[in-house]
Amino acid sequence: MTDLDRSGPSTRAVHAGEGPRGVHDPVVNPLVLSTTFISDPDGQGPLLYQRYGNAPNHVLVEARLAALEGAEDAVVLGSGMAAMACAVISVVSAGDHVVATDAIYGGTRALLEKELPRFGVETTFVDFSAPGWRDGFRDDTKLVIGESPSNPLLRVLDPRPIADEAHARGAVVVFDSTFASPVNARPLEHGVDLVMHSATKYLGGHSDVTAGVIAGSRALVGAVRDRAKVWGPTLDPHAVWLLERGMKTLAVRMERHNRNGMAVAAWAERHPGIARVHYPGLASHPDHAVAERVLDGFGGMIGIEVAGGGEGAARFVRALKLAKLAPSLGGVETLLSEPRYTSHAGMSPERRAANGIRDGFVRVSLGIEDADDLIADFDQALRAAAVPEAAAAD
Ligand SMILES: *Cc1c(COP(=O)(O)O)cnc(C)c1O
Repeated sequence: MTDLDRSGPSTRAVHAGEGPRGVHDPVVNPLVLSTTFISDPDGQGPLLYQRYGNAPNHVLVEARLAALEGAEDAVVLGSGMAAMACAVISVVSAGDHVVATDAIYGGTRALLEKELPRFGVETTFVDFSAPGWRDGFRDDTKLVIGESPSNPLLRVLDPRPIADEAHARGAVVVFDSTFASPVNARPLEHGVDLVMHSATKYLGGHSDVTAGVIAGSRALVGAVRDRAKVWGPTLDPHAVWLLERGMKTLAVRMERHNRNGMAVAAWAERHPGIARVHYPGLASHPDHAVAERVLDGFGGMIGIEVAGGGEGAARFVRALKLAKLAPSLGGVETLLSEPRYTSHAGMSPERRAANGIRDGFVRVSLGIEDADDLIADFDQALRAAAVPEAAAAD
């Protein structure tokens, strides 16, 4: 394991957490479905019961995730929301206050706005990219939640000043790092206490497993484990096994996602059928300098504003052949969505526009296909989108 401590992310993604292997042992970690394990006479044992998360498949994948994040410990749970919810309730109690980024995943916003007030916990949403965000803190602030890069504008946060302010006040900082994956960002290196992932996205990588992760210090992750044992969002071992399988290719997939992101964003920025491109790898992105500092890759998520607004985007999406309309991200296949119908459906068009999401905005999760093929697909769809349908039908 000492060699693995010095190894790169590709080696860790394949090997971290493996026990010693001898001759005649299986090369691939076996799937163990047993819900329980034979204990010592006093009821103890390293492996006891699936819901406790201490079954062999969980133990291995958690060690691998911790190694990728540079964390002491990690816990894998039934979904990204299970991970975030258990992290939040492991930190706050009735009467506590939360500061959260206003560019936050819809499920996390619902947790903070609809669920936590029922338990006496209030949240203030702030724009961490604007001066004055410190005004959102209160004396009873116990938890700070960041998310970077954000959905769908790909705003990138520098965790350091946020962590410094939080720690000066005795608060814990959680970062949702789903869009980056541990290959492109390791927020714990920048002072964050807990990093959360929807492993449904890049970590799993094949759009076939729903899972979540929390990584951090042994003490903080231990508190999350204690909550999870009682609230019960265990991940089924088969899903854990699929996650482990997907993670083996994480580093090579991210290399391609990053390359496709840069190639498609640079092409899209020059295309007359696209009004604006949002990608942290472009000099035109407001957080480009921060992104260069805190990310190791700019990722496979891009936002494009199709010329012709909502109608242009509708024609564009209908004309695509390779890229598919679906509300998830981070898989090997290119998927896209229109935030006006998905994450930001609850806002009026005016409020969305005020938040930088004009009708015509399309969020693209670039897969690992060849960039030339993706560009050709987008190009033919933009051509079709530029022609009003009546004329196109002639
Ligand atoms: C998908 C997602 C989540 C929620 O994850 P689930 O696995 O769907 O529960 C949270 N945060 C971000 C940024 C996401 O993209």
